[in-house]
Amino acid sequence: MPDIDKLKVSVDRDACIGDGACCSDAPETFEMDDEDKAVVKDSSTDSRETILEAAENCPTDAIVVEDRETGEKLYPTE
Ligand code: SF4
Repeated sequence: MPDIDKLKVSVDRDACIGDGACCSDAPETFEMDDEDKAVVKDSSTDSRETILEAAENCPTDAIVVEDRETGEKLYPTE
């Protein structure tokens, strides 16, 4: 099983400001909905690195990435 299948990706809609950066960074993973909020369309195509980079580049840390198996929060980390 590819590493990517182990990621659980979600977007905090209240934190998302709709700038679309994640859709540029990881276009297979995120898309904008009709309220200009990012949603996860597929978390199994972009690479793990690409998804984590998109999360790191989100200006409001609205993207949460967790390891599906261990529950470990990979981003944001504190
Ligand atoms: S990068 Fe962050 S703030 Fe921008 S659209 Fe994506 S989730 Fe929303």
